[in-house]
Amino acid sequence: MRTTKHPLFTSKETPADAELASHKLMLQAGLIRRLASGLYTWLPLGLRVLRKVEAVVREEMDNAGAQELLMPAVQPAELWQESGRWGQYGKLLLKIKDRHEREFCFGPTHEEVITDLARRELKSYKQLPICFYQIQTKFRDETRPRFGVMRAREFVMKDAYSFHSDQESLAERYAAMYDAYTRIFTRLGLTFRAVQADTGDIGGSASHEFHVLADAGEDALAVSDTSDYAANVELAEAVQPAAPRPVPSASLTAVDVPTQEDPASLSQALDIPLQQCLKTILIEAEDGGLIALVLRADHELNEVKAAKLAGAAAPLRFPSADRIREAFGCSPASVGPIGLSIPVIADRAAAAVADFACGANRPGQYWTGANWQRDLPEPEVHDLRNVVAGDASPDGHGRLQITRGIEVGHIFQLGQKYTEALGASVLDEQGRSQIPTMGCYGIGVSRLVAAAIEQHHDERGIIWPSAISPFQVALVSLNMAKSPQVAAASEQLYQQLTAAGIEVLWDDREARPGVKFADMELIGIPHRVVVSDRNLENNCVEYRHRRDSNSQNVPFDAIVEFLR
Ligand code: ATP
Ligand code: MG
Ligand code: MG
Ligand code: MG
Repeated sequence: MRTTKHPLFTSKETPADAELASHKLMLQAGLIRRLASGLYTWLPLGLRVLRKVEAVVREEMDNAGAQELLMPAVQPAELWQESGRWGQYGKLLLKIKDRHEREFCFGPTHEEVITDLARRELKSYKQLPICFYQIQTKFRDETRPRFGVMRAREFVMKDAYSFHSDQESLAERYAAMYDAYTRIFTRLGLTFRAVQADTGDIGGSASHEFHVLADAGEDALAVSDTSDYAANVELAEAVQPAAPRPVPSASLTAVDVPTQEDPASLSQALDIPLQQCLKTILIEAEDGGLIALVLRADHELNEVKAAKLAGAAAPLRFPSADRIREAFGCSPASVGPIGLSIPVIADRAAAAVADFACGANRPGQYWTGANWQRDLPEPEVHDLRNVVAGDASPDGHGRLQITRGIEVGHIFQLGQKYTEALGASVLDEQGRSQIPTMGCYGIGVSRLVAAAIEQHHDERGIIWPSAISPFQVALVSLNMAKSPQVAAASEQLYQQLTAAGIEVLWDDREARPGVKFADMELIGIPHRVVVSDRNLENNCVEYRHRRDSNSQNVPFDAIVEFLR
């Protein structure tokens, strides 16, 4: 491409709101222009880069067996009401109304839309596993849009969604996506790190973020110096166990029970770490004996374990499996020598304890062991938000280092949250209805352009990794209007390089050499070839890599081969 025909939009201005190098350089190099807060136009040069990032992402998604589709950006409110996120997502969700006063939103993400498609199209387990992806515009009404396309309101995301019959299949796909992401960011020439992550508004269990490491990153990452442990410090919010609902007072008489039993021996007997014994409830059984119900608070799945206390008179009579199923909506996971273990969901746990107690020991009396609860240590939480470099790591190995990162990818094992809420089901091998389990996988395609610049620039401008450079070669012709030799040699070189499949930006403007060199350095094209009368006298061109400070002369006839 010739700069006389396809003008550059380089500028020397430093916009006041451009805090980050990447933001400033994207404006100065003429990659983007601001329309309004968080809204950007991609100029031709910038769009070439964006398309290159997209191409790498698309190729690796295709290689990983995902199928590309394209969903509407505008989504009906009803779907978000079904999933429960219409209210929950908050102000980030841009809500709009059509001429019939029907409510819609501009999609910030597409779990609802893809699950709607899945519930209509997927009928049998034979169609699973399946994975779709799209590269598409999202809108999030961010509180503080800033740093240009890094935190925009309208941005390009690659989002993929997979559906599975079972957890093993989901875990397999998750691992495949993890690998595909690793290949993508490596091909893009980025230094990055995968870290354990919070699942945020999307929900689900396992989750990893991919961060481009850069001082300007908004996220702090806690990385162990000796083990593989690495986590986003936001994770602390997820580790904090959800507080149980108070036990309904109507069915309980709360009395302090002076008991000699110590919490440590109970935790040992029930095989629950002390710090996970969130609540202990003592129940008087019909025979006058004492039963301790311990609510164990783990990350997401909480459980209740029961034990007969020493000194209780009669053997325990545990409720039947049917009774438990009725009270808890699920079956006991195990009935062991000590008691039974019942998995319940966190926010139902406390109420379930009370239900269990009522159902199991009717018409007994119920007490909360208030004194015990006070004695128990606070649940242990690795509040990574307050960690400092040098702290021990949560996995028991090494010391933490704090680095900063830009979140460019995020993968989640979602589970059945959306398929269940939207009623998606398929028939399993036995012809029974089954709810598929789901994964979702995002990449900030437009953010990646800014992140790459953040990692690859110097005081003179951008230094593109070759995979996403808008052009490979900057061909700079000096004094062309007055020199027919320079014009002819440049034209010949331009044709030869183009024919060799090398993308060339030919700076054929009538401008001072200094202006042209500065522009090419700002734009960051890796290879620069200068054609001038002086060099042509020696049958040479001048070559310099964007990272080098010295130029070298290369014979005119050898330069195409040299650049190949
Ligand atoms: P962040 O923590 O930066 O707000 P997020 O966790 O809200 O990002 P996800 O929901 O995980 O974002 O979306 C997938 C990817 O989309 C992110 O990893 C990020 O690269 C990109 N992304 C999210 N928000 C923006 C934004 N406002 N502008 C540009 N890219 C974004
Ligand atoms: Mg966000
Ligand atoms: Mg995030
Ligand atoms: Mg995220």
